[in-house]
Order: sequence, then C-alpha cells, then structure tokens
Amino acid sequence: MAYTEQTQAAFREVLDNLQSAGIFKQERYIHSLQDAEIEVEFPPGAPLKKLINICANNYLGLSSHPEVIKAAHAGLDARGYGMSSVRFICGTQDIHKELEARVSRFLGTEDTILFPSCLDANAGVFEAILGEEDVMISDRLVHASLIDGIRLCKAEKDTFKHADLKHLEDKLILHKDKRHKLVITDGVYSMDGDMADLAGMVELCERYGAMLLVDDSHATGFIGETGRGTHEKCGVMGKVDIITTTFGKGLGGASGGCVSGRKEIVELCRQKARPYLFSNTIAPPVVAGVIKVLELLSDTTERRDKLEQNSIWWRKSLAEAGFILQPGDTPIVPVMLFNAKLSQDFARDLYEEGVYAIGFFFPVVPQGKARIRTQISAAHEMHHLEKALDAFIKIGKKYDILGKTKNEITDHYGL
Ligand SMILES: *Cc1c(COP(=O)(O)O)cnc(C)c1O
Repeated sequence: MAYTEQTQAAFREVLDNLQSAGIFKQERYIHSLQDAEIEVEFPPGAPLKKLINICANNYLGLSSHPEVIKAAHAGLDARGYGMSSVRFICGTQDIHKELEARVSRFLGTEDTILFPSCLDANAGVFEAILGEEDVMISDRLVHASLIDGIRLCKAEKDTFKHADLKHLEDKLILHKDKRHKLVITDGVYSMDGDMADLAGMVELCERYGAMLLVDDSHATGFIGETGRGTHEKCGVMGKVDIITTTFGKGLGGASGGCVSGRKEIVELCRQKARPYLFSNTIAPPVVAGVIKVLELLSDTTERRDKLEQNSIWWRKSLAEAGFILQPGDTPIVPVMLFNAKLSQDFARDLYEEGVYAIGFFFPVVPQGKARIRTQISAAHEMHHLEKALDAFIKIGKKYDILGKTKNEITDHYGL
C-alpha cells in the first residue's frame, strides 16, 4: 500500500480544480420511479422536492410502464436473476436469442448481437471488423463511446466536419485506396437534437464503396413514422450496414445495447468483440423487459405519436414565448442562453419552480453556446408541459431574455 500524501494531494487538487471551474458533477438523488414527475433530494440531506422531469432520456415514457415492470418480474421468475457467465460459455438463454431476433425485425436488419451497453457495443464493433489496412471516417461530434471504440481499433482514423457531407466526400476520395472504409455518425446528436443526413451519407458510401455505421441511441423507438429510427426517417432502411443502439434510453431505459446489421458483421462481433467475449450480457429480467417494450412498440405507434405531438407543442410554445431554440424536430429541444452562468442560474430557478432541467456549458457544448437542454417524453401530459412552460416564461422574464436576439442577450450577460 503506497497511497502517498503527494499522490493524495495531487488527486485532491484535480477535484478542487473541477469545483472551482464549476464543472464538478453533483448528483441529485431520486426517491421515486423514473417518470414525468420525480421526487428529488438535493443537495444531499435537503427535504424531498417534487419536480417535473424534462431531462431524462425516457422518450417513450416506458421506464416505469406497468406492463414492462410486469414483464421484467415474469422474466425474473422464469429465467432467474443472473447468468454468472459470458455468452459463449454458459450465458446464453433462449430469451437472449429471442430479443436479438426481435431487434432485427424492429430495425429491419439481418441480424443483431446484444452487448451489456451501447458503450460496449461501440467499444467492440470497430476492432472486431477492421484492421490496419482500413480506415474509419467519423463525424467530429460523435458520441464519446464511439470515440473510445475508434481509439481501440488499429485502422486509420480520420474525421469530417459535423454534418458536412462535402467534407466527408473529400475524405472518402482521400482514402479511396483503403481496403475497407467505414463512415461513422450518430443518428440524432444529443446536444443539439439535430439529425444526420443519412440519405446523403448512404449515397456517398455507395458511390465510394464505404460502409456506414449509425449510432441511433437517441432515435430507436421513436424517430421515423413507426419509430424504427433515423434510417426510417431518412428513407434508407436496409441500407445502413451497422446500427448500434441502446436499451437504456427510449426502449425502457434499463440497460443494454446492441450491434445490428449485416449478418457477417454481427457474426464477427460474436467471435471477436471483446466486451461481448469478456463481460456478462444483459440480465434476464431486463431482457424480458426489452422484449415487452418491442412488443408494445410493434403493436401501435401511439407512444411515439404522442411524443411527437408533445415535442411539437413544446417547441412551438417556447418559440412563441420568445426563447431562442436550436432548430430541429426531435424531442431534444435546447433553449439557448449562450452565457454559462446564466444557464446555471436559469436551471437553479427552474428547480425552485418545480422543473428539473440541466444547464450545459463549455466544455460539454462549444464556448458561448450554453443552454438548457430540454427533453420531452410521451409520459408528459399537457398539464406537465404547461406548468413547465409557465416556469420558463417566469424565469425568462426575470432575466429579461424573452424576445431578445442572441446579441442582446450576450451584450447584457457576456459570453
Ligand atoms: C447514451 C448513448 C450511448 C451509451 O448507451 P449505454 O447503453 O448507456 O451505454 C452510446 N451512444 C450514444 C449516441 C448515446 O447517446
């Protein structure tokens, strides 16, 4: 044991610097189910406060859906609690195969392999299929877990400017002699709520002989006419070679992820992806819960339709009230405040008014683009959204930002 005083002091200093930079993450303790309304203890020891939750990824409102809970209970009774094994030794049940088949059917893909999380799917997929002769070309704003997976792979790494297909084309030309080329993007980008132009990307990939990987974690279950995801919305179902996604957001929000797509790619992951080979897969009750979620979503589009209507109403109402929004048409609606301190003050005041949303600022978003990110759910009823809107307007008036331009706000508050 040699946790020296110097080491401890050095670590302490790193933590103190996070505190003084105002980027120390302090968790709020929820004492209730995850839902449209939650009971929160914050700061630790404070009395519980009932809040309208507009910052969860509970897009479809399935995190605490009674039928999902019931299915998870039944799964627990029928297949037990845990596997105590990785998949290829003695950790594969019939329900794991059933879930893989259902995901393939839902996404319109050839095959699917489960991972403990989408982070693990992204950590495993690149190394399993690519080597030194290949190239990975990713959008510069892809999710952190894709960046990690890319780093673990020996193929050459390159990037293109966010959503800039001309730049992507330049890169595809630059790397045209590589053996395998893989273009990598998120389907929906979580900070701005913008969507990748998958139709344009598929066209470029076909022209230059590249594969396409889309991480659809912020889309699966609700984007597109029947909620299949960004590939449905963009009219390219069956043309995306690899979809990675999570069960930890719209699809019940428990945990787990997958790689879905070309059957040889899925089989290569089964043989070689390290998070699949060396970590337990999704626990039986969660598998049973996700199966139920996919059943519910295949029967009817009611929940994604309600989510869409809620999102449209919320976006329109905030805009009419005079807030500046990041443009888009997903359930992610960022309210732009530009100034970091203003975003924190605004979020704190919302909390006082009974509305839970988070203010983001640099380095999570670019400098001068601080915001409150709001996320809408099918669990929200109109009375939730109306109350949240009233709080936004009240606080917007307090800081005198309603109807103001970006320059007027930043002239007053600074960047
Ligand atoms: C949330 C998220 C992940 C991680 O999902 P987990 O299943 O929780 O690991 C990966 N990619 C994107 C784009 C995400 O938004």
